[in-house]
Amino acid sequence: MKRILEELSSLRGSRPRVLLCDDQPINIRLANALLKGDYEIFMATSGMQAMELCEKVVPDLILMDVNMPGLNGYETCERLKQNTATLGIPVIFLTALQTEEDEVKGFDAGGVDFISKPINGTVLKARVLTHLTLKLQSDFYRNIAVTDSLTGLFNRRKFDSELAEKWELCKRSGQAMSLLMIDIDYFKKYNDHYGHQAGDRCLADVAHAIRGNFHRSYDCVARYGGEEFACILPMAGPEQALMLAKAVCESVARLQLPHARSEASQFVTLSIGVASVQAPGHSSMPAALIAMADKNLYQAKALGRAQVVGGAQVDAATPVQLP
Ligand code: GH3
Ligand code: MG
Ligand code: MG
Repeated sequence: MKRILEELSSLRGSRPRVLLCDDQPINIRLANALLKGDYEIFMATSGMQAMELCEKVVPDLILMDVNMPGLNGYETCERLKQNTATLGIPVIFLTALQTEEDEVKGFDAGGVDFISKPINGTVLKARVLTHLTLKLQSDFYRNIAVTDSLTGLFNRRKFDSELAEKWELCKRSGQAMSLLMIDIDYFKKYNDHYGHQAGDRCLADVAHAIRGNFHRSYDCVARYGGEEFACILPMAGPEQALMLAKAVCESVARLQLPHARSEASQFVTLSIGVASVQAPGHSSMPAALIAMADKNLYQAKALGRAQVVGGAQVDAATPVQLP
């Protein structure tokens, strides 16, 4: 088990993080002495402090006392489970409470395990190891499930679920959303001329440059397929989307990746179709946004490539005929 956890930690590039939460510093010191050799330890002496730390350092596991002044351990755990940013952090209750009823309360509050004090060092270390291994393993597979391995961007599966999710979000909040469809120009010729491996490197470089333009956590930048990328921009109207699309083109132009066979430039270039919806409604659908961005992308190609076409909007009030 220890070997597996070490492998998972080195794959992700950081040691497992454990948060110790107890109002008695002596208890924290005790657990710290047992665990600090293997993990990065954070400490909190109240439920509120634990919640603040969780937002900041996102630990992989929490050892939580139950009886504490202010928020008790159960309440703190319940609150962590209500927050999407922290609900995935497993909580082990570490408490002087001993009864089955207390244990049941812990599981009801969303805990994954329950250890009674006084602490048995071997038991504590074994359970911490088990839950950390499960946590890092699940992070690892979840990450693979949403990532495109060549470019490191989100994959098509994640794009599809994000589009549906962000569409609903903007619908609820009555906000605009936009979509960029990006396609590398003359990429077949690039492969023919430089070889498939160079093509792969080019795709990764271009993806990295595209990604660098998006700084909001809720933007989704994905590899849509082959040499096509798509960016979902919730809460962004047409002007902002157009500006971003131009910045994306420029950032790839700055790479100055030679393309001897392109008819648009001596370097690798992009064509981008932009589409926006002022407020996603019941009568319009995410597929209409994709169709519109695709149409504009096609137009950018027809106009000579290496450019952005946008402007048209999916009208929320008009039912859209889907292909
Ligand atoms: P256009 O300017 O009209 O977009 O022309 P294009 O050649 O870029 O478009 P086309 O759709 O004809 O060809 C896309 C090429 O992208 C063909 C395919 O070999 C290449 N491609 C798709 N995925 C990969 C990949 O993962 N690695 C490499 N090296 N090439 C890829
Ligand atoms: Mg294409
Ligand atoms: Mg292309």
